[in-house]
Amino acid sequence: MPDLILSEDEQMLQTMVRDFADRELIPRAREADERQEFSWENWKGMADLGLTGVGIDTKYGGSGQAGYRKVAIVAEEVARGDAGASVSVLAHLSLGTNTIYRFGNEEQKARLVPSLASGKGIAAWALTEPGSGSDAAALQTTATERDGTYFLNGSKMFITNASVAESIVVFATQDRSLGYKGISAFVVNRDSPGLTINPLHGKMGMRSSTTDEVVFQDTPVPLENRLGEEGRGFNYAMEILDSSRIIIAAQCVGIGQSALEAAVRYAQQRETFGKPIAQHQAIQFMLADMATAVHGARVVTMNAATLKDEGLPFVNEASMAKLIASEMCVDVSSKAMQVHGGIGYFQDAGVERIFRDARVTTIYEGTSEVQRLIIARQVLAQYQL
Ligand SMILES: Cc1cc2nc3c(=O)[nH]c(=O)nc-3n(C[C@H](O)[C@H](O)[C@H](O)COP(=O)(O)OP(=O)(O)OC[C@H]3O[C@@H](n4cnc5c(N)ncnc54)[C@H](O)[C@@H]3O)c2cc1C
Repeated sequence: MPDLILSEDEQMLQTMVRDFADRELIPRAREADERQEFSWENWKGMADLGLTGVGIDTKYGGSGQAGYRKVAIVAEEVARGDAGASVSVLAHLSLGTNTIYRFGNEEQKARLVPSLASGKGIAAWALTEPGSGSDAAALQTTATERDGTYFLNGSKMFITNASVAESIVVFATQDRSLGYKGISAFVVNRDSPGLTINPLHGKMGMRSSTTDEVVFQDTPVPLENRLGEEGRGFNYAMEILDSSRIIIAAQCVGIGQSALEAAVRYAQQRETFGKPIAQHQAIQFMLADMATAVHGARVVTMNAATLKDEGLPFVNEASMAKLIASEMCVDVSSKAMQVHGGIGYFQDAGVERIFRDARVTTIYEGTSEVQRLIIARQVLAQYQL
């Protein structure tokens, strides 16, 4: 039963992605998690449906212009099926491809976006470094221009999709003394000389996606691969993160929804004291709290997407949505495990994977603490009582 008013188009998109998740992502989710490597099967399925180019103009090989509400619907439904698959497609679409689509010139968009939007190539987005995550402006990777070419030196950490990417959007400084004003954005081809990509092992969740270290040693980048103006890269990164937070919030709603569904299913089957545990009020209250939290997070997320699509201020609401939805999905997936009792702690039940997947969402794309800093700044500016 729908709990939001969606347009006919939005409902069709939701049904299409939900069917795909039920048919392909959910049956493969456990094995993909155990294999701990990028799932090409998932990728191909998403590309065939056009999900790798949602919101990108057909002129650039995408599925057509669409607002953030539609991207949020895709994010939720894919994450409900396999959260790891959603990390791969969202880092590709809402971070990597979108940065080129929004800040690239016509030539760059025509050259780079069609392959990415169609899913033939994959995009990665490299901001974080071993020494700088929340404090992104402190990044140390340098870009030095010599004879009409930039040379990159330094390293990036925790980069989703890097080892399978065709194009990596990289943020590097041309002058550290300028702070954030020294940072520019570049597109680095995966086959560039002096580029080493080391997959990182031992990740807790999201294990059907790949997370990598990227090392640059005098990696040449042609001038025509600089995005936008020199010195504006940090602003571009922040703009992309502002809107991408809506999409991460939607991912969290999908993770919460899958935990809720697993808990309801189990509560109706498992019997204790002569009746299904769903008839014990303590379990009912837990399910009620979970459903309420998922619904609340979905509403604030779609509200932020609507504000963005209508061209209204949305940054504060996007941070609130990311904060509410990420903390919700950690809590709801933990409750789903509680409803399962002992079996929930084992792989077979599937909720321990959802719990492990959920945990990273309060950390990446701005930790909960960073979201609170953004919201507090806004609140203090708004209420001059
Ligand atoms: C699976 C995964 C995928 C990722 N994918 C990508 C990707 O594709 N591209 C990319 O660029 N990055 C990616 N990241 C990196 C991610 O965005 C960073 O890990 C995140 O921003 C946090 O940075 P950090 O790890 O350096 O933590 P830190 O910044 O060192 O933070 C450590 C702790 O200190 C707190 N803290 C920091 N500063 C403050 C402050 N001012 N006030 C209060 N508390 C503070 C933080 O909230 C946190 O609790 C990924 C990370 C993971 C785990």
